[in-house]
Amino acid sequence: MLLWSDKVVLGDHVSGLRVAAAALEIEGQRIRSVTPCDRAGFATLAESHDDEVLDLSGRLVTPAFVNAHAHLPMAAFRGVGGAMAMRDNVVENLFFALEKELSNEDVRAFARVGAYESLRAGVAVVWEHYYGGDQLAAALGDTGLAGFVAPTLQDLDGPGVALLEQQWQATFDLLADDTLAEQGVFPALGPHATDTVSGELWRRVADAAAQHDLTVHAHVAQSIEELERAWARHGTSAAGWLARTGALDARFLLVHGIFLSEGDLGLLDPARHTLGFCPYSQLQFSFPADVQGWERAGMPWLVATDCAACNDGMGPQKELRFVAGMRAVATSWSDEQRAFRSSGALDNARALQAKRQAAFDAWPTWADPAKLLSRVWSIPGALDPRMPCGVLAPGAWAHVLTWDLSHPALWPATDPLRALAFSEPGDALDGMLVSGRWIGRPGTLRSALLHDGAYEAARKEADARLAMLLAKI
Ligand SMILES: [Zn+2]
Repeated sequence: MLLWSDKVVLGDHVSGLRVAAAALEIEGQRIRSVTPCDRAGFATLAESHDDEVLDLSGRLVTPAFVNAHAHLPMAAFRGVGGAMAMRDNVVENLFFALEKELSNEDVRAFARVGAYESLRAGVAVVWEHYYGGDQLAAALGDTGLAGFVAPTLQDLDGPGVALLEQQWQATFDLLADDTLAEQGVFPALGPHATDTVSGELWRRVADAAAQHDLTVHAHVAQSIEELERAWARHGTSAAGWLARTGALDARFLLVHGIFLSEGDLGLLDPARHTLGFCPYSQLQFSFPADVQGWERAGMPWLVATDCAACNDGMGPQKELRFVAGMRAVATSWSDEQRAFRSSGALDNARALQAKRQAAFDAWPTWADPAKLLSRVWSIPGALDPRMPCGVLAPGAWAHVLTWDLSHPALWPATDPLRALAFSEPGDALDGMLVSGRWIGRPGTLRSALLHDGAYEAARKEADARLAMLLAKI
């Protein structure tokens, strides 16, 4: 297939992003070539191309989003427990209790609905982490979503303890599944967290990661309880404990990192470790991690959603505006603000404004659209060499979005990258290719995805299973 548009997003977080006229040649699951060219150049290329040829002028063509931390079946728990559920440790106090009751069929049915929500938001690849790993992979296969599935591994605490060997096996069954691999579904190693996994299991994970070149995906330093347990059991921090087990020798995606000190960050290696920031989730279950500290430490970091039960949406693009605004919010709770609030004096107001200006100037590229978008495109797309993505480049997987630039959500698209990072562009998303296959051809995505009957059937099964689950609890 040969696609051309006068507005294609090329480049990555290393080279920078640019919008240019270009033709993409797609063969199988991957992008074979990218040729910057005008319409006349495209016409010449098309003459020698014997497969489908598509002129997408007027549309913006971009990589699809990568959501590098998700628990798709938890779509079923969206809204459960009410606002007060987030006061204390929601994972241990609420989610573990619900998860104990989940059947394999529930996991697959709920994950399917979460997968549809992801596709609707322009996500082609999820880094999924949950119990029932084979069911997760099956749900991705059912819906056409691609991803790295980490069956959750626990041996100390949590609903997965009794399932450990089964989930370990599921990880390696996935590694051997060529059919799923062709669709873009691969395994990752999914130890749950530093306090639910023993030293023995962490070492087993590290050995398997080295032997099979797998990425480790885990929650690290996500709660005060986790940190307290690390100090009580091991006399060190959560990250210090991980380092001691050898787990940090692996290629590792560490998610949340809310309780990571400078000393902890010093244990990490930017060459093989990536930190995961889930702002809207952390705002609910805890508070946002200090990503400026991660940046100072030179660590690569990406932006993801976590689950619908504490976010509550699975589109990573919306998270970017919060990231962009982080340099501004510290001013709201500063000493300068308190001084102005009590005095009302103009001098204090000027000091408050100076505080805001200093923060803006200290982080000049913090809200740069290309930097923001890279955190949901090429940075997560580079996590695992099995499926390079998040970039439109030769050899990358063909996960591609088309956007209607005449849509009011993007008009007048003076700066399409800025519009994509900061606006609410969801309705302008009109076409999607995952692993080289159309989920919805340009102009038809919404109807192809939600109105072809498959979604309706998936949702009805999930409705029935959720009703049964809630009746059980
Ligand atoms: Zn999580």
